[in-house]
Amino acid sequence: TARKRFGQNFLTDDNVINSIVGAISPDNEHVMVEIGPGLGALTEPVANSIDNLTVVELDKDLVERLQNHPTLKQKLTIHQGDAMQFDFASLSQPGKMMKVFGNLPYNISTPLMFHLFEFAELIETMHFMLQKEVVLRLSASPGTKAYGRLTVMAQYYCQVVPVLEVPPGCFTPAPKVDSAVVRLLPYTEKPYPCHDVEVLRGLVTTAFSMRRKTLRNNLKQQVTDEQFAHLNIDSSLRPEQISVEQYVSIANLICENKAK
Ligand code: SAM
Repeated sequence: TARKRFGQNFLTDDNVINSIVGAISPDNEHVMVEIGPGLGALTEPVANSIDNLTVVELDKDLVERLQNHPTLKQKLTIHQGDAMQFDFASLSQPGKMMKVFGNLPYNISTPLMFHLFEFAELIETMHFMLQKEVVLRLSASPGTKAYGRLTVMAQYYCQVVPVLEVPPGCFTPAPKVDSAVVRLLPYTEKPYPCHDVEVLRGLVTTAFSMRRKTLRNNLKQQVTDEQFAHLNIDSSLRPEQISVEQYVSIANLICENKAK
């Protein structure tokens, strides 16, 4: 039985499963990594097309099932544990980038993606099943309601491509929300490089702490009027009204001032 605490909604629709596996395009030239394999809806078709698949699964009972699976067990490298604490760098192999995928537990999808962004330079592609609303936030444009902290950080690290919408009936049990698959392509060369991502992360968190307030008000501890003027950013705008590039430029100016 599925357990609510682990966010377990298992994919059961073959067409959707095939489309996702096609999007992932598993191969032996990459370290293939699945987060939350569950009963193996994606695990099986992916593992069947390659030599080895690494999986990270929290639920001990599901891990045991996979370990005893007649055909999968030879193909899988299984790590039992919390993907949010997992050191994905430990999976890297010389000359191979990773392809990471999973039908994520929706209650932890945002912190989990933030954790994965720390390994972005080791990852070629990520494919995730998420709440549709989260995919809209990942791919949002400035000036829209969905544009926020997650948008800015995701688009700082990755190109974001929505792939497919998935209705609740494709899962057992059916989740209460619509779902969608997204493809995240970490940049090998970031379009707007930041001197210190910690600074960017802090800046973006503070900027969006109160969405109805202006940038000037939200950021008064961190950015002066002169700095906004220097960057040509109107500080009376709201946090969702400036671009990723502009957030990076503010973060870099903060870094430069710290270095002085
Ligand atoms: N991939 C399967 C499918 O599509 O049918 C299962 C998807 S289910 C939405 C999420 C899976 O992630 C479950 O197997 C759950 O036990 C596992 N899980 C939940 N929290 C986790 C965590 N923190 N780290 C790793 N796996 C986790």
